[in-house]
Amino acid sequence: MKLTQATQAIHADDDLNATSDVAPPLHVSTTFRYAGDPEDLVPIAHADISTTEAHVYSRHTAPSSTRLETILTPLLKAPCLTYASGLAALHAAYVYLNPGRVSIGEGYHGSHGVLAIHQKLCATEILPLHCPASNLHPGDLIHLETPLNPTGEAYNIAEYADKAHSRGAMLLVDSTFGPPGLQDPFEWGADIVMHSGTKYLGGHSDMLCGVLATNRNEWLEGLRKERMFLGSVMGNMESWLGVRSLRTLELRVKRQSENASKLVQWLDTCKNSDSGGEEAEMVKRVVDRIQHASLQHEDMPWLKQQMPQGFGPVFAMWAKDESMARQLPSLLTLFHHATSLGGVESLIEWRSMSDATVDSRVLRVSVGVEDWEDLKADLMRGFKILGRKQEA
Ligand SMILES: *Cc1c(COP(=O)(O)O)cnc(C)c1O
Repeated sequence: MKLTQATQAIHADDDLNATSDVAPPLHVSTTFRYAGDPEDLVPIAHADISTTEAHVYSRHTAPSSTRLETILTPLLKAPCLTYASGLAALHAAYVYLNPGRVSIGEGYHGSHGVLAIHQKLCATEILPLHCPASNLHPGDLIHLETPLNPTGEAYNIAEYADKAHSRGAMLLVDSTFGPPGLQDPFEWGADIVMHSGTKYLGGHSDMLCGVLATNRNEWLEGLRKERMFLGSVMGNMESWLGVRSLRTLELRVKRQSENASKLVQWLDTCKNSDSGGEEAEMVKRVVDRIQHASLQHEDMPWLKQQMPQGFGPVFAMWAKDESMARQLPSLLTLFHHATSLGGVESLIEWRSMSDATVDSRVLRVSVGVEDWEDLKADLMRGFKILGRKQEA
C-alpha cells in the first residue's frame, strides 16, 4: 500500500508498537537489559550498529528517538538521524563530511558559529555562496539555506546541486524554513538535508531537535557511529514530544504557509496601493520593505516547482527606522515578541535582539496557526499606533 505523507505521519511507526497503547508510551530509560539467554548475547563490538531495534544505551539508540526517526524517514524521503538541536546536527555533518572548503551565504547566524568552530579545528576554507564553480574541488561542500533565515527568501536548489556536482563537491541543504509538505531538497539534487526540528517538526516551541537525512547509506552509518561519540542525541522526553508533534505536521505547516502568504499579500498590496485609504497609508508609514518567497515574481518558473504547495511561513519586514522596529512588537497582542519560529503561535522579533549581523530595521515574523484575519487586525492596530505617533 502506497501511503501519502499525511498518513505516514500517523502510521509509519505502527510496526514499533510493542504495547496496546494508541498513544506511544514515554520511555525514559538510558539503559536496556541484554538478552536473557546467554546464547543470544552479542557484544556491541560485533553487533550490527545499524539495527536500532536492539537498544543498548540511549547515547546509541532509544525507543522514542528511533520512533521519531522512523516517522521522519518517509516524510523527508530519506533515512535520517535525530540530534539534540539543529546546530548539533549541523556540527555532526561538518565533522563527518570534513569538507576542505565550505561555500556559504548569509542566513542563520548560528550556522556560521558552528562553521567557525569547525574552521578553528580543521582550517576549513570559507567561500562565499556565489563563488565561481572553479573555486570548488572534490570533497568541498556547498551549504545552502533555503528559504533563508530571517528573510524567507528562496534559492534555487537545483542550481547549487549542479554547481557542486560539476566539481565533485557536495550539497547540504538547511531546509528548516521549508519543512516536509513545502519542499523536498532531494528532488533537486541535495546530498544531505538538515532541519532544525526545533521549528516546524516540533511546532509547539517546547523541544530542541536537529535532523540529518541522506540517501547515501555509508554516510548515514558513518554519522550514526560518530553520533554515539559526539553524544549529541535527543533527550527521551523531547523525542516523545517530537512523535506527538509529527502527527499534525502537515496540517500545521499548510495553515501557517497559507496564513503567511495572505499576510504578505495584504502588506504588499497596501505598500503598492495609490488609493490613499487609511489602512494602506498606515502600512506605508511604518513598513519600508517586505521580503518573502511569494514576492520573488521573476523566480516563479523554478520556485513554483521547488515549493509547489506554498512558501515558508516566515517573512521579514523592514521598518522605516530602527525605533519603529524596536517598538512594534510590544504594541501587538497576538504576536509574542520572541525569537525562534515554526510554532503554532505567531511570533515577531526585532531581529537585532538575537542577531547582531542583520539590519537594525528588520522584524522577523513567524506566522502561526491562528486565523489570519485576526493576525492582520493585530498588525494593523500596531501600525496605526506607530503611524499616529509619527504624525504627532
Ligand atoms: C534555528 C535554526 C537553526 C538552529 O537550530 P537549533 O535547533 O536552534 O539548534 C539552524 N538553521 C536555521 C535556518 C534555523 O532557523
